[in-house]
Amino acid sequence: LAKAAGKNAFRFFEPHMNEDAVQRQYLQTALRAALGNGELSLHYQPKFDLRTGRLTGSEALARWDHPTLGAVSPGRFIAVAEDFGLIVALGRWVRETACAQHMAWQRGGCAPAHVAVNVSVQELHSAGFESDLLRTLRDTGIAPERLQLEITEGVLLRDTEAVLAKLRRIRDLGVGLAIDDFGTGYSSLSYLRRLPVDTIKIDQSFIRDLGQDPAGPVIVRAVIGMGQSMGRRIVAEGVEHLGQVDFLRGQDCDEAQGWWFNPALPPALFAGLYC
Ligand code: C2E
Ligand code: MG
Ligand code: MG
Ligand code: MG
Repeated sequence: LAKAAGKNAFRFFEPHMNEDAVQRQYLQTALRAALGNGELSLHYQPKFDLRTGRLTGSEALARWDHPTLGAVSPGRFIAVAEDFGLIVALGRWVRETACAQHMAWQRGGCAPAHVAVNVSVQELHSAGFESDLLRTLRDTGIAPERLQLEITEGVLLRDTEAVLAKLRRIRDLGVGLAIDDFGTGYSSLSYLRRLPVDTIKIDQSFIRDLGQDPAGPVIVRAVIGMGQSMGRRIVAEGVEHLGQVDFLRGQDCDEAQGWWFNPALPPALFAGLYC
């Protein structure tokens, strides 16, 4: 309504929408600027092979350190980026930065098998996604096998055939594909079978429930068994306790990631520990 009233009209905000709408507008403008001014960075969280204990890769997670607001959570600014058409530019920056960082580490003799980046729905649906991705691979020189895209389960509910075809082309380049936050969406088993992903990341809510909700272990065991029978690698996210590690090992889960091992770290700290 405020928008439709036009440039010179008075803007009337309902008190209840006011605060959030104003803050989102502010964040939008600030985020647009942040894309060019160095306030954004990536932190890297290690992932481990549960059988060998070895580092397998890292997940790049976006961070925004605003001069007055301080750290804005990704939950907040990714949503703003998605809603205001900034996510394509942000995602491109994330992939370029993560691939360049991975290559710098590789050249220095540090070799996590891959770096994973998160991809939003709108990015995947955008027309330029594949050409952008190819350009990033070429410009940074990263081997496609060393990049993994994490896509949230919910993404896949819209435009199914077109999206599946796009994902298959990306997989055929050699780029790894993971389904993120698995279990929170509505995919059926037959649908999961058709998804051209090599990795399934079990959502952290199920890992949290392991020690609390009697259904927790049942669900985690089912996802591991089902996923592995379809030839997928299973990663558990949000692992915070040794008991969870032990349970996951007992279920032959492939990989784990979480605060028990380390949180997402600035690049220099990550390199200090793992390179
Ligand atoms: P996600 O991809 O599922 O990432 C996992 C989140 O869990 C991260 O939160 C990570 O810091 C947090 N985490 C890791 N280990 C633990 C643990 O042991 N316990 C708990 N409670 N949390 C843990 P973060 O960094 O706040 O990111 C939140 C979400 O924002 C991500 O969820 C992802 O969906 C999105 N996101 C972050 N960076 C990007 C990005 O560059 N692009 C896009 N499109 N989305 C991003
Ligand atoms: Mg992720
Ligand atoms: Mg997740
Ligand atoms: Mg998520």
